[in-house]
Amino acid sequence: MIMTRFLSTPDVARIVQTLGIHEFYKRLVQQLESDFLRWGEFDKSPRSAAHSSDGVIELMPIADARHYSFKYVNGHPKNHQHGLPTVMAFGVLADVATGKPTLLSELTLTTALRTAATSVMAARHLARPDASVMALIGNGAQSEFQALAFHHLMGIEEVRLYDVDASATDRLAAHLAKAAPGLRVVRAASTAEAVRGSDIVTTVTADKRNATILTPDMIEPGMHINGVGGDCPGKTELHGGVLEMARVFVEYEPQSRIEGDVQQMPADFPVIELWRVLAGQAKGRERMDQVTVFDSVGFALEDFSALSLLEASAHSLKLGSELPLMPTLADPRNLFGQLQSSNDIRVCI
Ligand code: NAD
Repeated sequence: MIMTRFLSTPDVARIVQTLGIHEFYKRLVQQLESDFLRWGEFDKSPRSAAHSSDGVIELMPIADARHYSFKYVNGHPKNHQHGLPTVMAFGVLADVATGKPTLLSELTLTTALRTAATSVMAARHLARPDASVMALIGNGAQSEFQALAFHHLMGIEEVRLYDVDASATDRLAAHLAKAAPGLRVVRAASTAEAVRGSDIVTTVTADKRNATILTPDMIEPGMHINGVGGDCPGKTELHGGVLEMARVFVEYEPQSRIEGDVQQMPADFPVIELWRVLAGQAKGRERMDQVTVFDSVGFALEDFSALSLLEASAHSLKLGSELPLMPTLADPRNLFGQLQSSNDIRVCI
């Protein structure tokens, strides 16, 4: 039988629980770094997006010589009113030599994990090494993942939380108290209060407009800004003046110019692709008092890395199920024979 491994959200949760979130993040950052260092080997393109009044649905393909992956992902900031998450995703990893899909996986939980791991990968090169306090603006679905990744992998000891919806902060604070008892959690009354004195500022809000979460007057020398929520045309978080005062890093420039906070800036506004810093071709932070921005939008390579790690982990932990997604044919050209042999054929009247 030709089988494709299927991982549901509970399967992915089981992988993370079995390894422990700290260990899972460590492995994911390692996988991301090794794939970003192979940048030139990938066939890359900006994602394809279908915009509507309340959201966007996107397809994110990428391939190297051996593996192909794509992610289906949406972004609908008002979805909570329908009892749905803002971001939902699934994806496929396939064998380039034959086209056989080897893995079909949930990617909603995985997107939150890989986004946080990518933020940490960037912050390791861009934030001050002594960073210990992080402001976290936007306390929705992604926020626990960001807080835990920065606590476990970047040594963040205090997070300062702010959200326009106090109940979101209640949930986040309660989860962090359980999941990371060593992390000091401080609630702020405004974005400005949360940001004041922080070493790192993570913005992860959802609003389908050009919001201005951070303005230049809030920015202090040496801060690193991890801008996660501005990721779509017409959907930004940083005032243009914040970008002007910073050294700005992006994932894949052609996509970030369309989707990132840098969409507000002229086409020749200087940005540096993160892989060049990892490869030693460009400097990350140059001075302790420099302001740095990681203008994250989410790039297909990050999902490729996450799918690769999930496939290897599911295999070694024997998790997931096998799906007959593709037909198993005694004669590969006799596709019609499936109709004649299948017991499942129903005649609909
Ligand atoms: P969510 O809807 O679960 O949470 C968003 C939170 O932002 C909500 O609690 C909301 O109240 C808060 N918020 C909105 N406006 C705010 C403001 N002005 N100040 C403070 N808080 C505000 O969404 P989510 O799944 O957590 O995603 C957050 C954002 O991250 C979205 O914009 C999403 O598109 C983006 N995202 C980016 C990546 C990436 O790779 N860069 C990956 C996943 C999600």
